[in-house]
Amino acid sequence: MERVRDLSLLPKAHLHLHFTGSMRPSTLLDLADKHGVHLPEALTSGEPPKLRATDERGWFRFQRLYDAARSCLRTPEDIQRLVREAAEEDVRDGSGWLEIQVDPTSYAPLLGGLIPALEIILDAVDSASRETGLGMRVLVAANRMKHPLDARTLARLAVRYADRGIVGFGLSNDERRGMARDFDRAFAIAREGGLLAAPHGGELTGPSSVRDCLDDLHASRIGHGVRAAEDPRLLKRLADRGVTCEVCPASNVALGVYEKPEDVPLRTLYDAGVPMALGADDPLLFGSRLAAQYELAREHHGFTDAELAELARQSVRGSAAPVDVQDKLLGGIDAWLAD
Ligand SMILES: [Zn+2]
Repeated sequence: MERVRDLSLLPKAHLHLHFTGSMRPSTLLDLADKHGVHLPEALTSGEPPKLRATDERGWFRFQRLYDAARSCLRTPEDIQRLVREAAEEDVRDGSGWLEIQVDPTSYAPLLGGLIPALEIILDAVDSASRETGLGMRVLVAANRMKHPLDARTLARLAVRYADRGIVGFGLSNDERRGMARDFDRAFAIAREGGLLAAPHGGELTGPSSVRDCLDDLHASRIGHGVRAAEDPRLLKRLADRGVTCEVCPASNVALGVYEKPEDVPLRTLYDAGVPMALGADDPLLFGSRLAAQYELAREHHGFTDAELAELARQSVRGSAAPVDVQDKLLGGIDAWLAD
């Protein structure tokens, strides 16, 4: 009988984790207490909230909870704590590289403006990386509910701070609002500035939203992308181009994109040769972190240890980690499998 290897020891890269969403539930309670914020009961019960984001009301409810949690991050110390704990949790789950995603606009009002907010975040990432030994970088994500001009401003800022640890540019929030191509100029600025393009697509809407990310934003990675499974030709295109999909299975189930863990089309993407990087998305709201995504692949989709190691390799190859970091992680994955 095959021995079960510990998935928290499998080296991997974590490419889809949102800033506030990475918070420990206990830290949220601490910070709410510290700042006198009254949290909605869904965030204080100790259980992940019941969400259903497949309709706009459900998505709005999810965003409201997210905003309530975000309103507890008010000082540079809060930001430092959040980032350090996110790094600690990732290390515990076997991550050797974390790309955390943030829209600094959301934190700007309480932290003295957009540029100070971004600098506080980048400083926090730098210290957390040094303290924990985890390689960490930042994706700046624009909000598709806002004006495309705001996205351009953010893209320019992200490029300006590229040498301070920003590696990519994203686009988040409700895919049903606005068109990807409204943000094409922002993405052109980001790409020309050397950042990788990693917009969300193919989560709340179908394959066409993934195609839009490829055609209009020249995405080299897709946040989620799972709904590409509904279109074999699109799967082939993603596989041929080596576009990594940042697949977040627990998030998909929590938000009702799929009914059950076994419905997330991990096998379909894997068998089509689409590279994947499993991610936790918003552990604060969905109740599970990085290693749990690999557990889900093992438990509900029958991924063998060799296949789980291959998923981990795909996450590393899809990352913006420097070659020496990638080589070290890939070596660690081989060692995990050989053990
Ligand atoms: Zn996301």
